[in-house]
Order: sequence, then structure tokens, then C-alpha cells
Amino acid sequence: MKHDDLSTRLIHHPYKPPEGFEAVAPGVYKASTVLFPNVEALRTTDWKDKSGYTYGLHGTPTTFTLEERLATLEGGTHCLLAPSGLAVMTLVDMAFLRSGDEVLIPDNAYGPGKTFAEAELAAWGITHRFYDAMDPDDLARQIGPATRLVWLEAAGSITLEFPDLPALVARVRAANAARAGDQRPIVTALDNTWGAGIAFQPFELGVDVSVQALTKYPSGGADVLMGSVITRDLALHRKILLTRIRLGLGVGSNDAELVLRGLPSIALRYHAQDASTRELAAWMQQQPGVVQVLHPALPGSPGHATWQRDASAAACLFSAVFDAGIPQARVDAFCDALRLFRLGWSWAGPISLCAPYELASIRSQGWQEAGALVRFAIGLESVQDLRADLAQALGALHG
Ligand SMILES: *Cc1c(COP(=O)(O)O)cnc(C)c1O
Repeated sequence: MKHDDLSTRLIHHPYKPPEGFEAVAPGVYKASTVLFPNVEALRTTDWKDKSGYTYGLHGTPTTFTLEERLATLEGGTHCLLAPSGLAVMTLVDMAFLRSGDEVLIPDNAYGPGKTFAEAELAAWGITHRFYDAMDPDDLARQIGPATRLVWLEAAGSITLEFPDLPALVARVRAANAARAGDQRPIVTALDNTWGAGIAFQPFELGVDVSVQALTKYPSGGADVLMGSVITRDLALHRKILLTRIRLGLGVGSNDAELVLRGLPSIALRYHAQDASTRELAAWMQQQPGVVQVLHPALPGSPGHATWQRDASAAACLFSAVFDAGIPQARVDAFCDALRLFRLGWSWAGPISLCAPYELASIRSQGWQEAGALVRFAIGLESVQDLRADLAQALGALHG
């Protein structure tokens, strides 16, 4: 068939580039529509596994490649992507919870995950309870007949307590064993954003599902939003996959490419930021007006011994708790006086960040009497420059 119209000829162009091109970076394949050679292929290509391509939402060579590399990073076997870290968390909730079920969430979990339970899951008749992640017996007490999903997070958000993951998982396994024959055993899901696949191997510690905000370390650029959910269990993977397809969650290949570019340097960045963070956290602990620095690698920080036992590195976060006698306005003035540390959410990018938090409003237990807290995320700047910045801004704290 001969095409006369220029537009038609430009779209249905016969040229095919030669085979055999190989480069360091994987190709970026972008698609909503995926083309089939014939009706038979269109009808029979399976969209529920990675044996072929059906529609851009369900995967491209670029997103499948990223999924495989992320499964390797975390020591899992199956990975799925979603458009943000929060999106993979809510995807896991939707995959495993039904009306009448209950989900248990650590009191120190990532805030928006708790809000999803309070605002959305509750509206669908799914209840939630917050448990003390530092007390496995508290988790055991809270598990009830309706419990179907237990969230874990190591270290906890903002206060950075490092929980005993094997002990928490053991409590869930004991509950499952006591309900032998139950068609829907309790699933454990870890928010592994902090560990990032570098600090510890989540599946070695016994969790069923690991989610990560790729927005943080895997990207490393503070310029992309994405999340991953990884398992070693094909049945759990397929359950999450079907829910993901029904919800219409997928990621674009340009964003996947950004994460593929960040991955080769993730271990180097993680360890470099870890070293700077430990140095600054230890220094901050010596400063007048700072009553406590929270960082799992600091002796005296909650869960330090467990972190030493189960992890080999720590993320780029620490939180400073100020003397309760220092007014919030002075702590805000300290944050405003910082020049290299910028104000903003997220972490694990090139730039150092800080943000004040009010513990009394984000925790249901403990911390009610604590002074103001500032969380620091250490970037890739020189540690001497960052220390000098903290030192000059502490002048504003004391007025
Ligand atoms: C940032 C973050 C998330 C959410 O990631 P987004 O991509 O910002 O939605 C989830 N958990 C933890 C621990 C995080 O730090």
C-alpha cells in the first residue's frame, strides 16, 4: 500500500534502526498504546505477568527493567512500581484489606500512611489501631481476629526509633499459627524507605512485603516521585498486581529512567550521607539547648542496640529535641537562620533540609511533654560547611 499524504508517511515510516545497539543506560521506551502484530496477539498477550506488553500503564521495557533492579536491591523476587511512595502504601492497604478488617500501624509511622487509614480506610469500614513499635508485646496484644495487615517501619518517622523487626514479625507469625487454616493470614508490610535496601535486607528479617519511596535514595535527585513494592511471594505479588491494575497505577518511562540513573550510585551516596550525618548528629548532641539527638547509630537513641544487631548503616536523618524551655518561635528562628540547610519536605537528595515538627500532635503515645523537634536531612554538601551553618544558626536559637 502506498501512502501519499505526508503525515501518513511520517507516522507509518518503514525505517527500522539496525539491531545490536548496546549502551550503558537502558533504553527509554514510552507508551500508552502498545502495538500488536495481529488480533490473536492482542487477544492472548497476558497483562498479568511480564511475558509481554499490552498497555503502557501495565509496563514497558523501561519500567520492567527498573522493577528487576529494585527487586535485586532489596533481595526480593517480584517488584511493582507506583507513582509515589504514598501510592504504594495505599496500594498495599487496598490489596490486603476488605470491609470489616483491621490494620495495625506503628504509632511512629510515616504520617500520611496513618492519615489514609484514619480518613479513607475508616470510611470503607476498615478499622486501624496504632501500636508501640518498640514493644512487640504491645503488637501481640493489639492483634485481633479482624487483623489482616501489620505495617512496620524501621527506623520510625521523625523520632527514628529502631524497632526489633524479627520480634515484631515473630508476634504476627505466632498469631497466624494460632489461626491455622485461615484463608487470609496476616501480612506484614515494611516501609523500607529509610533502609533503602542498603542498611539491612528486609526479607532476611522476615517481612512479607517491602515498600520504598524511590523518591528518596533510589532517585537521589530530589526531582522524581515514585514508589516500589517488593515481595518474595508470588501469590502476594499477584494480589498486589491485580489491585494495581484495577486502580490504574503506573509510572512513566521518563521518571523510571531518572531512577535507573540514580541506582548505580545508591550505595556510595547512602554511605557518604551516613558518615556526614553521624558526624553532625554527634556534634549537635553537644550543643547547649539540645536535650536529645535521635539517630539509631547514636548510643542512647531508642533502639540503638537493635540497630547495631540488625543493620550495617544508617540513613541521612537525625532529629534534635530542644529544651522544653526554649519557645517554638526561637526554634523557628534557628531554622530560618540556616543558609545551606533549606526548608522543605523529603530527603536523601543532594541538598540538606530541615523541618520543625510538633511531636504532641503527631504521636498518640509518649513525647507529649517534649520540647520542639527539628528533623535534619543531610545532603551531599561538605560536612564542615554544614557544621558551620548549624553553629551560626544556633546563635539565633539563643537570641
Ligand atoms: C517520603 C516517604 C514516603 C512517601 O513517599 P512519597 O514518594 O513522597 O509519597 C513514605 N514513607 C517514608 C518513610 C518516607 O520518608
